[in-house]
Amino acid sequence: MNDLLFPAAPISAFPIADSNLRFPVHRIYCVGRNYAEHAREMGSDPDREPPFFFCKPADAVVSTPAGQTLQLPYPSQTKNFHHEIELVVAIGKGGSDIAVEHAYDHVCGYAVGLDMTRRDLQAEMRKAGLSWEVSKAFDRSAPIAPLHLVSACGHPEDAGIWLRVNGKDRQRSNINQLIWSVPETIAYLSRFFELQPGDLIFTGTPAGVGAVMRGDLIEGGIDGLGTLQVKII
Ligand code: MN
Repeated sequence: MNDLLFPAAPISAFPIADSNLRFPVHRIYCVGRNYAEHAREMGSDPDREPPFFFCKPADAVVSTPAGQTLQLPYPSQTKNFHHEIELVVAIGKGGSDIAVEHAYDHVCGYAVGLDMTRRDLQAEMRKAGLSWEVSKAFDRSAPIAPLHLVSACGHPEDAGIWLRVNGKDRQRSNINQLIWSVPETIAYLSRFFELQPGDLIFTGTPAGVGAVMRGDLIEGGIDGLGTLQVKII
């Protein structure tokens, strides 16, 4: 085998709760508009749209050990930087054409994540019918809290999901409000992509997305999966 031209980038990985192990990230898939109230606030009809997906690069993940606050630089090229709190599914066993009833066998854990978004660029791209890449797939756009393994947290289906900015409620819902459930999302996604161990699926955000500025403190959580604290700097 020939040597690499230069050293390969380090593996993207983030902590696992109550463990010295880290979860190595392969790909990041994100579901768009998966809570009815959020679909409505984005100007869509939640009843008529099948799920759709976009990706972030694996190294968009940024994290800290449990209990620490992540320092997140305000990104370039936006004046409307939005939070989206999401349930993140971690794939531990790969597969294609996974049946809904077997989908949970492929999940090794869950985490609280943020799908950070340059909302102004997303609006421009949507209007022009162009790809969302610059609005969704930028550097450090996927802050994530430590992973909770299924052996510890099971498969949550009824759990509060919330986000506060500077102590004020912004988003509050329950993951039982997902339009496409976790097993349905895995089944659907696996028809288009061969899922691999290390894949993450951001399952969509509830209503209440909004802007943050430098100096703001974001706190978000999902019952049973801990919390995530992010300071915008
Ligand atoms: Mn999202």
